[in-house]
Amino acid sequence: MRRQNRKEEYHSLVEFEFNDFLDPKALISELIAKIGDLAKNKEFDTFAIGFSWPKISEEELLELKKSVQYKLIAEIESKYDKKVDFEAYGAYFLVDFNKKEVLLRLKSLFVKGNYCKFSRKIAQTTHFCRRCRGKGCNGCTNGLESEESVEQLLALVFLPELAAMQLKFHGAGREDVDVLMLGKGRPFIVEILQPEIRSLDLEKLCEKVNKKFEGKISINSLEIVPKSEVAIVKNNVHEKIYLAIVSCESMIEIKKLVLNKKINVSQRTPERVEKRRADLVREKWVTLLKTNPINEKEFELELKTAHGTYVKEFISGDNERSTPSISSMLEVKCVCKQLDVLEIC
Ligand SMILES: [Zn+2]
Repeated sequence: MRRQNRKEEYHSLVEFEFNDFLDPKALISELIAKIGDLAKNKEFDTFAIGFSWPKISEEELLELKKSVQYKLIAEIESKYDKKVDFEAYGAYFLVDFNKKEVLLRLKSLFVKGNYCKFSRKIAQTTHFCRRCRGKGCNGCTNGLESEESVEQLLALVFLPELAAMQLKFHGAGREDVDVLMLGKGRPFIVEILQPEIRSLDLEKLCEKVNKKFEGKISINSLEIVPKSEVAIVKNNVHEKIYLAIVSCESMIEIKKLVLNKKINVSQRTPERVEKRRADLVREKWVTLLKTNPINEKEFELELKTAHGTYVKEFISGDNERSTPSISSMLEVKCVCKQLDVLEIC
């Protein structure tokens, strides 16, 4: 991950004037006032404080530390009714004597939920176009893979509601832009950076998102979780139920497909993702649940798959990189015309 610069990492900064480090009383009163300015209207109960000490003689430094450190903490506690807690703080102040700045970093808030996506034009997260790398070309929208993303839509509501600076989206896996996410939805966690507001009515927030983006996305089951949940959500293994529209090159005998029986499938990394992932053969399984003919060459297929199965490739066969496939079982070339995730199990 890119290292954040100071302005992103810290909520805000105020400069302080103080020059004479050897007048601790005046120094502390100025620092207290600056910290008060920074902390104004921000919700936190506990704080920690760090110092970047000035380049002065060892003797002077020792004197400065002794006179400032503990007094400052005690004054913040009594004046602003906050508790110092170096292990689990809601706010971290950094007093930088060299740059003459006081900075504040607010602890991120992690909100977990599920999302559904009802549009084939909305991606999960915001991605730059791979062809032009964000410059903008004929194949993209202003340099982005898709005009909108779940991440970006959530940010439009979450950031102003929490008076926060940034939102990072962590999904339990992902679906392609053109795949709908239905059913109970896909688990996600949004990490909200520098939230001034922490006391949230999650139900109201949920309603707000669902009303504003009706027909595009919806979210449910919001809860505040610890940071450790991010890794759990990202690494969870899910079986999935899909609904595909399969389109075949010629007439088909749909009866050739055996339903409700686990089919072991070997999948070599698909051609379309080859550049991003290692070229490996992965052993997966698929169970065909239902077929429903649309016409002589097309049918709906409901299928359950192991975590990480490439469904579009299981249907087409991906030039025999995926075996068996719907194409090989029907002995006719097939493609996945449309795909929806019906349920994440
Ligand atoms: Zn482009």
